[in-house]
Amino acid sequence: MGKDPSFTFDSLENKLAKLDRLPDYLRDTVDWFIGKARRKEKEGTDSSSSGDSKLYLEATVLERKLPEMDMRILVDLPAGLDYNEWLASHTMALFDHVNLVYGTVSEFCTASICPDMTGPGQKTYLWFDEKGKKTKVAAPQYIDYVMTFIQKTISDENIFPTKYANEFPSSFESIVRKIVRLLFHVVAHLYAAHFKEVVMLGLHSHLNLTFAHLTALHHRFSLIDPKETEILKDLEVALHLSGECAEAAANNNDKLEDTEKSDECRTQSTEDTSGDNKS
Ligand SMILES: [Zn+2]
Repeated sequence: MGKDPSFTFDSLENKLAKLDRLPDYLRDTVDWFIGKARRKEKEGTDSSSSGDSKLYLEATVLERKLPEMDMRILVDLPAGLDYNEWLASHTMALFDHVNLVYGTVSEFCTASICPDMTGPGQKTYLWFDEKGKKTKVAAPQYIDYVMTFIQKTISDENIFPTKYANEFPSSFESIVRKIVRLLFHVVAHLYAAHFKEVVMLGLHSHLNLTFAHLTALHHRFSLIDPKETEILKDLEVALHLSGECAEAAANNNDKLEDTEKSDECRTQSTEDTSGDNKS
């Protein structure tokens, strides 16, 4: 199954210390980057629809570590491989990557800085407790609940079996859906509230890759309600991750047509969703 036995939740704490040692040249890069985004906003060309600037849509940070089509090939179920086994390995990989990126910026995600679990476009996620009661919690608390829940779940031999004789429970797919949805919430918060810090640490291409992986997995196996993923649809389009948009971008070298196609794909829905963590 490929579970990493050396992985511990505590190991994230060690990463926090790195932020204080951020080299000056990176700070300059960030200042330049933020200045550029502000200038663009003033010029009235900011792509945000809700007033908050979306730094993650800036062309300078849209890079990611693998080319466009690779993610879809990466998530496609190989013949002869068990579907649950496949879902399990991708879910654990996504958890590790989201955890790593969040761990590096979590110093900036405190109850006072992030009193709400926000996503892009004024989205706020509420946590459903064990009794199914909706509660407003600060982002670090929400994310701690998410990470603790996932860590506990993937370590449970009855849910994520590692021994050959053990089988996946019948509820496995719905558990994976919940995990992937919760990881999407954390990714949404990273883009909405901490993208500046992610760029400062030079991790934006890694975050974009993680988002691309999550999106490809979701597109291939329809894991998340599309109403939930709508809030990062603009980034999906900008990174050429959306179904036919991705195909158009990959198959079409004509820049003009590509742009037209992207505009076509950029159709937005403003419908509000109440995703939260409920299964
Ligand atoms: Zn935060």
